[in-house]
Amino acid sequence: MSSTDFDTLIIGAGHNGLVAGTYLAKAGRKVLMLERRDIAGGQLATESFGEGFLVDCLHPGAALRPDIVRELDLTRYGLLPEPHNHSAYISLLPDGKRLLLRGQGDDAETLASIRQFSGNDAARWPEFVAFMDLATAFLDEAYRTPMPRLPKVGIAEGWPLAKLAWKLRSLGGRAMFRVIRSLSMSAVEFTEDWFESEELKAAIAAVAIHGSTLGSMSAGTGYTLIHNWLNRGGPAQRGNGVGPTREALLAAFKAAGGELRTSAEVNRILVEKQKARGVRLASGEEILGSTVVSAADPRHTLLGLVGAVELPPDFVWATQSIKLRGSVAKVHLLTDGSHGLPAGTLAIAPTLKYLERAFDAAKYGEVSAHPYVEVTSAGNVVSIHFQFAPYTLRHSNWSVERTTVERMAIFAVAEHFPALMESIEQVQSIVPTDLEAIYGLSEGDLNHGQLILDQIFFMRPLPGWSDHRTPIDGLYLCGSGGHGGGGISGACGRNAARTVLKTKS
Ligand SMILES: Cc1cc2nc3c(=O)[nH]c(=O)nc-3n(C[C@H](O)[C@H](O)[C@H](O)COP(=O)(O)OP(=O)(O)OC[C@H]3O[C@@H](n4cnc5c(N)ncnc54)[C@H](O)[C@@H]3O)c2cc1C
Repeated sequence: MSSTDFDTLIIGAGHNGLVAGTYLAKAGRKVLMLERRDIAGGQLATESFGEGFLVDCLHPGAALRPDIVRELDLTRYGLLPEPHNHSAYISLLPDGKRLLLRGQGDDAETLASIRQFSGNDAARWPEFVAFMDLATAFLDEAYRTPMPRLPKVGIAEGWPLAKLAWKLRSLGGRAMFRVIRSLSMSAVEFTEDWFESEELKAAIAAVAIHGSTLGSMSAGTGYTLIHNWLNRGGPAQRGNGVGPTREALLAAFKAAGGELRTSAEVNRILVEKQKARGVRLASGEEILGSTVVSAADPRHTLLGLVGAVELPPDFVWATQSIKLRGSVAKVHLLTDGSHGLPAGTLAIAPTLKYLERAFDAAKYGEVSAHPYVEVTSAGNVVSIHFQFAPYTLRHSNWSVERTTVERMAIFAVAEHFPALMESIEQVQSIVPTDLEAIYGLSEGDLNHGQLILDQIFFMRPLPGWSDHRTPIDGLYLCGSGGHGGGGISGACGRNAARTVLKTKS
């Protein structure tokens, strides 16, 4: 097809762009997807850092929403449904003890492990898991519900929200109250409501702060706990690799008639009389299309690609105020295989105060001296998620601090697994400035905007603009910065595609 034959242009081939593009192509749109990198997948990247050093760079696994897998027929392209996650989550404790958790209420190994620290907590675990199942089911429903553009709510926009409120009501008075209360609580308050042992409370609180620039005492980490538990299907990462999800989405997109161009960075969204009319690439090439759907983050899309002059002043101010705060680094180690790490997700999060102190450093623009880390391994490769490593360093810069983070990450893990040190053959790290430069994430923010209470539901990405539309007719947002993001669920892509298809052009 020539570049004039498309009616819909998608900016960015991350999983949300691919989900949106596939829905739109299946509905008969002529879709062209433009990706700035030379590979597709966004944060579902698998890359080689040298011979034998092939890594899922950012995520050890993924699971799209089951409705998306079904509606896009992704099993036909090799994606197996992943409803349950039985992987182990192991908290590594200073005295050599370990606390093992699985997201099932009746898992005998979990109950025995918790009992080492508290018999009462082991007795409460089944009730806790049942609550998390309920709370994640509610959040899941909220993410698939289109949010109204408050304060303008007509009957049509209000109806899905009324159904969501009914669903919450149907949980029963006590559970409804507990779910609502949990969202605003800190991880400390939330876990103290359930358990007495410090080891268990801290292990759960670590899941709450994972990926965010928040500490265990920050309000709203009750919400991020439920969000992360939903995306993981329990406390542990899904160790299923990101390749199958990425490849199935790419195959489904192409089978639906979509076309993908990589190494095609968009540097301008063309606007005429408040209407999108196409894009200009960094190469200077212009491609026309009356619908433009951006999977890039909202700030980059609106201020970088559209430009403030095309937007109402209030909207520009609100977009400038979106909180983007990356503070995650990844350190990948190629080993000779004798690292000694068990399978599963390993966390260094011994106490609630440890987590809060690790976060304290980020507040002052410093790398945590005692970081919260989460470790997974796949064959010879060990991958360390490191928090906190703030994008903006107050007294240093990332060309200096990269090696500090690498060293600290390795030492933190080697303290528990001494064989690791001798087994390391190569080290490769991804710091927040790499997340921006390589993966296109403004300020290294993984979720295209922090998951905090004033940036979720009908306030994501901006109050009044949570239905994926923008002040520019024909321009939509479908990435994780919108309602339903972050994580790898595809909710934003699906919701945005539905909005596009509902809108008369
Ligand atoms: C280490 C790590 C840990 C994480 N942990 C969690 C977690 O615990 N919980 C959670 O909810 N989320 C987590 N996330 C975040 C989650 O991965 C993201 O929310 C999700 O992957 C974003 O997917 P996306 O498709 O919306 O965007 P992306 O995967 O970021 O894709 C956007 C695409 O747009 C492209 N692009 C950008 N600008 C342009 C342009 N101008 N022209 C063309 N293309 C462009 C980019 O190259 C990219 O391919 C984590 C992320 C990382 C990196």
